[in-house]
Amino acid sequence: MTEKKECCSTEKSSCTALADSALDYFQSSTQNCFEYARKQKEAGKKIVGIYCEFTPREVILAAGAVPICLCGGSHKMAVAGERDLPANLCPLIKSSYGFIAEEACVFFDMADAVIAETTCDGKKKMYEIVAERKPVYILELPYKIELKEAFDYWRMEVGNLKAFLEQKFDVEITDERLKEAIDVMNDEWAMMRKVHEFTASTPPYLKASEAIITRTRISNMPGDREMFSRLIDELEQRRSESAPAYCPDAPRILMTGVPMPLGSEKVLDIIEECGGAVVCLENCTGVKPLYENVSLDGDPLTAIAEKYFHLPCSCMTPNRERFRFVKELIDQYKVDAVVDLIWQGCHTYNIESRNMRSLVTDELGLPYIKIETDYSPSDEGQITLRLESFLELIKNRISQT
Ligand code: SF4
Ligand code: SF4
Repeated sequence: MTEKKECCSTEKSSCTALADSALDYFQSSTQNCFEYARKQKEAGKKIVGIYCEFTPREVILAAGAVPICLCGGSHKMAVAGERDLPANLCPLIKSSYGFIAEEACVFFDMADAVIAETTCDGKKKMYEIVAERKPVYILELPYKIELKEAFDYWRMEVGNLKAFLEQKFDVEITDERLKEAIDVMNDEWAMMRKVHEFTASTPPYLKASEAIITRTRISNMPGDREMFSRLIDELEQRRSESAPAYCPDAPRILMTGVPMPLGSEKVLDIIEECGGAVVCLENCTGVKPLYENVSLDGDPLTAIAEKYFHLPCSCMTPNRERFRFVKELIDQYKVDAVVDLIWQGCHTYNIESRNMRSLVTDELGLPYIKIETDYSPSDEGQITLRLESFLELIKNRISQT
């Protein structure tokens, strides 16, 4: 049985946090990943760095290699990245690059290759600099996803990635190995989905700030699998004890917009500190990549391509699926309001915020706020003030209904 401890000071609150929980394991995920990657490397396995949810981990796993996410969430490294990159670039790109420039990323050092992708312009050009240090394979994405030929092109690119890995690592990626990798990833997505369901329940039994740390850098780590299962048991226990993760009157917030790599969760933390219950992280470090499993029927490479082709990223045009998905989640998770997080310099998500605001306020009649920021802590006070008023407004609105 898990020990409960109070997580906020309000007398009426019965919200709880898990002590001695599987979450403690995920808190050390960078260290866990490092230990795992080091052992795999020593055992002769190849390490492959990735930066985006479009990169099909299944193909890398089927090559017998270890896919590791290299996205940076550190403000210090974003500043370091400005040595070679423009200051007004998205902090996610600057930070990812800063780790490389400062030689501060052990995972990048270990990498035998990097799989990059043509999503936004900043990343594309950053990869050209990364290619000076490591072999980089660029996955080219078709942007006009409603075009009939777009999927055929993407399928070809996934095939090209397979050929690159086969040649680079002198390995044959058979259909059987692909199917095994699909199975592994489907299981992992399913466990992560299950964990996120506890943030979305009424009341939530898991905070979003707890759920987000379960997105570790490396897929298919045996330790993760065991801990996911233990965490799910602990959360079932929380539910049976009627011990919610947030205060009972906390407004239910959906966060959409940009991904939040480890260390860049400041807006999420502020929402929770101000008394909001983040019941859904719609972005790429939340549920967006978890919703669709890869089919085990038919040609495995085509099935893999299908899943990733459906990812509703703002780099696509038009990106109608994101709006349909957010609308579905708002309804399914009984959301009271939406917070749209935009990293400064992320033009694609920033421009989509116009239509997101319109969907949330005009069509669904819910409060919406856009927070445009970077990784620096300098605007935390200002963001706190804005979110405090926003949450107050939502509470008043709820009390009047
Ligand atoms: S938001 Fe788009 S570019 Fe960023 S990780 Fe997700 S799919 Fe990749
Ligand atoms: S947040 Fe936007 S600008 Fe930054 S890497 Fe992702 S898509 Fe590119």
